[in-house]
Amino acid sequence: MRVLLVEDEPDLRRQLAETVAAAGYAVDQTGDGEEGHFLGDTEPYDAVILDLGLPGMDGLSVLERWRKDGRAMPVLVLTARDRWRDKVAGIDAGADDYLAKPFVMEELLARLRALIRRSTGHASNDLEYAGLRIDTRAASVTVDGNPIKLTALEYRLLAYLMHHQGRILSRTELIEHLYDQDFDRDSNTIEVFVGRLRKKLGRDLIQTERGLGYRLAAPGDAT
Ligand code: CA
Repeated sequence: MRVLLVEDEPDLRRQLAETVAAAGYAVDQTGDGEEGHFLGDTEPYDAVILDLGLPGMDGLSVLERWRKDGRAMPVLVLTARDRWRDKVAGIDAGADDYLAKPFVMEELLARLRALIRRSTGHASNDLEYAGLRIDTRAASVTVDGNPIKLTALEYRLLAYLMHHQGRILSRTELIEHLYDQDFDRDSNTIEVFVGRLRKKLGRDLIQTERGLGYRLAAPGDAT
């Protein structure tokens, strides 16, 4: 899962970026509205955290343009203080949720999880598939009740597969949703991570679809 963070206060942006990254997401960040608009327009994000008061282009205009151009990713708007007019304007512009400053990081993470969960069609923070279970709150994984220790990137890959279970996911899509824009991307690394996940999970739930990509599927499942 990859998140775009657009916030111009440097201290808050750094704190947000650290919190969101520590929760298992890849994060791209900028303090400029215009750059934020460009990134959201050209990169596939699983969610966006968007401040309203921004240099370059204000957050409402950024959001309105994305929606006008059909960009449908979930957007969490950060409003200055508890101004109801900002909330109404944000929701009218296409925000999926809002959070008034100041806020606690746990609430931001809970709202972010909920947005990603809803946008991928899941009702619960616990995602399950054939004995495999991930708790997106704790970023923890179990197989048949036994805890499995994963690295941050292994977890990110598994979480993306679990959110999109049953679908064939191309390597390009996986790379775009696993890494931030500064990461040196190499599509072979996906193969390596899939191999490690298969080994750690102890069963082959990640099927290779020749020439297409990968799919989370129980053995014997028809395509
Ligand atoms: Ca601001």
